[in-house]
Amino acid sequence: MNGSAGTGSAKTILPGGTIGILGGGQLGRMLANAGSAMGYRFVALDPTPDSPMGQVSRQIVAGYDDLAAALELAGASDVITYEFENVDANVAAKLMEKSYVPQGSELLYTTQHRLREKEAIEAAGVRVAPYREIRSEDELRNAVAVFGTPCVLKTATGGYDGKGQWVIRHADEIPEAYETLSRAGTQLVLEQFIKFAKEISVIAARSSKGEIKAFPPAENIHVDNILHLSIVPARIGKEVIEEAERLALRIAEGMNVVGLIAVEMFVTEEGGLYVNELAPRPHNSGHYTMEACRTSQFEQHVRAICGLPLGDTALMSPVVMVNVLGQHVEPLLHRLAERDEAAIAAGASPKVHLYGKKDAVTGRKMGHVNVLAPNVEAALKWIKETTIWKV
Ligand code: AMP
Repeated sequence: MNGSAGTGSAKTILPGGTIGILGGGQLGRMLANAGSAMGYRFVALDPTPDSPMGQVSRQIVAGYDDLAAALELAGASDVITYEFENVDANVAAKLMEKSYVPQGSELLYTTQHRLREKEAIEAAGVRVAPYREIRSEDELRNAVAVFGTPCVLKTATGGYDGKGQWVIRHADEIPEAYETLSRAGTQLVLEQFIKFAKEISVIAARSSKGEIKAFPPAENIHVDNILHLSIVPARIGKEVIEEAERLALRIAEGMNVVGLIAVEMFVTEEGGLYVNELAPRPHNSGHYTMEACRTSQFEQHVRAICGLPLGDTALMSPVVMVNVLGQHVEPLLHRLAERDEAAIAAGASPKVHLYGKKDAVTGRKMGHVNVLAPNVEAALKWIKETTIWKV
């Protein structure tokens, strides 16, 4: 798949123009909310009627591989973006032919595949965990002998929230790990296990005109492989924060990104940084920017793809973002109806975002709360005291 992105043919799409989005989930909804405030119109392509984005904008209800629907989207949009990475290659090519897709298809092609992604990160001069491509059980055995245990076997495509990976703790797990992950029918990659002290992420933006900016790093805490908290400022040294921002900007520039790129990293005890993975879109760990930064990640994405100057990314308040999963909705709604004495006492302002999803299934991302507070400890204390997130 070809397709260039960058400064050459960059257009300026002014408010009043229409932004088409492949995918109508919560990321599309929050993009539409941010962009509508600036005066843009939105249209979503999503197979689920009344999708989270469809509730706040126009929606074409059709599958992502429906070429006729893709053409309808192209006809209705001045610029097209996406809110998930696994965009069908044929659809992407069609959209690029018929409409303006400033992000191109190359970035998607790279980030859809772990091996290609790692090569691109290294080509940008940034470190990833040592890795090997694995094509047979024998290759796996040899690579495990080199890296030692534990090490992590991952599928090259299709993995998310910890799915499609196996932490190999003993060599006797090799046959089962290989057999289980090869069933996905994609290439495999073995990574050395990084003994990280913290996981962080940096959202960087590069506009179609080539301007770049990074948001402050978020310290991320996962529970059951799903993001639970993003803590900002991250509780790491100032030099590590600055280095993480520099690396994310280097990736944005080196990979010719247009729009946002979320860069997930491991921080070792000594402050060393390794990039784990990338997402070329708004990211859950960047939701904190909605109230805590001068510009949200969603406004920034709109600015970047529309060729406007990027917004200021400065942090205005310490914040902790806590995800609202299916099991948290009921207790959160109860709490919302009452005067929150604990929040008032802590000087904390919990800002609630719900995505309009109907079925509050356990583990499903239904919303998030950005807890603004005088310091992150006060925000964490409020989250704990509510007992909504008993983990
Ligand atoms: P991923 O699907 O690559 O984002 O991995 C999910 C989680 O698994 C990460 O957030 C880490 O907590 C853990 N993990 C993945 N790769 C490694 C690695 N090479 N070393 C240590 N932990 C890892």
